[in-house]
Amino acid sequence: MNMLQMQDVHAYYGGIQALKGVSLHVADGEIVTLIGSNGAGKSTTLKSICGQVKTTGSILLDGCSIANRLPHQTALDGVAHVPEGRRIFPKLTVKENLEMGAFSVKSKKIIQERMEQSFVYFPRLKERLHQAGGTMSGGEQQMLAIARALMMQPRILLLDEPSMGLAPVIVDQIFEIIQALNRQGMTILLVEQNAYQALQIADRGYVMQTGEVTMEDDAQNLLVNDRVKEAYLAG
Ligand code: ATP
Repeated sequence: MNMLQMQDVHAYYGGIQALKGVSLHVADGEIVTLIGSNGAGKSTTLKSICGQVKTTGSILLDGCSIANRLPHQTALDGVAHVPEGRRIFPKLTVKENLEMGAFSVKSKKIIQERMEQSFVYFPRLKERLHQAGGTMSGGEQQMLAIARALMMQPRILLLDEPSMGLAPVIVDQIFEIIQALNRQGMTILLVEQNAYQALQIADRGYVMQTGEVTMEDDAQNLLVNDRVKEAYLAG
């Protein structure tokens, strides 16, 4: 069964139409990537799933409509969104950032347990528990943003350009963590400019252009597709 199913989704910013009938799906346990040029509508697709932009069309999570719910409601429904540019709370410590992630959880014990679980993937965060988030490196902040999103134990993790602005060696680490999370069962929808690396770890991919899905296939097929190679994998 598809965990996430979008059908004919349209979204506007004032008079600008950012999504023109997007349909896609993510099955339980998959990594699916959205690739495409700047402005193609990738971020807007993620924002429409987590309730940050108004949409028409259908968005189902586990068969139930989540279209046009408020962001905190979609978070409670099981959608975790790690936005572009990370946006952790820079003045709060790592621990406080993680606690904020578990905003609906009252039990300190459960919050503590979830933090310990995340340190399996992000040992660096444990070392820096009492450091202000904003004083950490870009890669560490990205790890904190992902760890914070996981504190709600989401059904699906939406990642918007996790590799942006990071050194190649750190990007490799982030991609390894994404794969490790997926191996433990996390379903992931990944937006990336770094199409080559994203397709290497994904099961399937969608190519977006000017608000529409123009191609969809297994990631391995997209990696060897001439049009994809020319437009997104060159260099
Ligand atoms: P990028 O990699 O640059 O983020 P993207 O594929 O994620 O690109 P979106 O950010 O979803 O693309 O943008 C889709 C379209 O919507 C673009 O034409 C963009 O200019 C427009 N857009 C995005 N955000 C806004 C906004 N807040 N107000 C007005 N227009 C916007």
